[in-house]
Amino acid sequence: SDRLLGGLRKTQERLSGNLAGLVGANRLSDEQLDDIEDALIASDLGPRAAARIRERLASGRFEKGLDEATLREAVAEEIAAILRPVARPLDIVAFPRPQVILVIGVNGSGKTTTIAKLAHLFQELDYSVMLAAGDTFRAAAIGQLRVWAERLGVPIVSGAEGGDPASIVFDAVKQATDAGTDVLIVDTAGRLQNKRELMDELAKIRRVLGRLNPEAPHDVVLVLDATNGQNALQQIEIFREVAGVTGLVMTKLDGTARGGVLVAAAEQYGLPIHAIGVGEKIDDLRPFDPDLVAKVIAG
Ligand code: GDP
Repeated sequence: SDRLLGGLRKTQERLSGNLAGLVGANRLSDEQLDDIEDALIASDLGPRAAARIRERLASGRFEKGLDEATLREAVAEEIAAILRPVARPLDIVAFPRPQVILVIGVNGSGKTTTIAKLAHLFQELDYSVMLAAGDTFRAAAIGQLRVWAERLGVPIVSGAEGGDPASIVFDAVKQATDAGTDVLIVDTAGRLQNKRELMDELAKIRRVLGRLNPEAPHDVVLVLDATNGQNALQQIEIFREVAGVTGLVMTKLDGTARGGVLVAAAEQYGLPIHAIGVGEKIDDLRPFDPDLVAKVIAG
């Protein structure tokens, strides 16, 4: 958690600066509550979560008096209460194998890196993993995924740039099924500029998957870049519509002051948060620990 603590420090500093000096009697005044709500919004928690936390704090009694530490603790508890229901690891439970995990997200969000990190995580848990390079739109994406596959020693099914992603996915599922592979992680194109095309492409992938296994895809994981702040919420909105999202991974929580957007996402969409990215290295994926993240955000 050192890295997470280090990484989310900026969010914490922003919120802390705003919470400092809000000391008073044993309940918060309206003015103090306003200040706290503003501080939460400034920390990217979003108006809904901020209002909910404000409301909960307004009914709180602080019998031992209100000092900064007590207030921080109370805020952390309310943040944790929002985050706890969405904390859910990505479990490998599908039978028959493979469990098919479709990974979606805009280019640059950390999608490829997250796929590699997930593959590594599953390997460590002794699951066999296969990758499918379904982002055929960018040659670089195929190349990058191949490099990771080689480094991790996992098989990859890929085609040429401009190829049909659905046919790659079809081949990958057949190969994974034949090999008895536990997890098939599928990369997809992240070009939101052309929503219609992306939607068609994902729909076709889904159709092909469904023909081979009606349960597939078992997971549709949206990768979001925390540094995008509130824009990450818009991406949830759009990808829910074009792809049907079952869970989130939030990346780049190291070194951003915008980690509070996790709370906004949890409050607004209630989608499971599977893990968080706290760096560029292969083991920089962390389980999502709601109490730790809440504590870090509230300082
Ligand atoms: P994609 O275009 O969505 O596939 O994104 P990439 O996986 O290529 O990642 C884009 C950049 O973000 C790369 O330089 C990654 O190393 C970096 N990146 C990915 N995840 C994280 C993270 O959790 N923290 C940090 N600091 N960088 C990350």
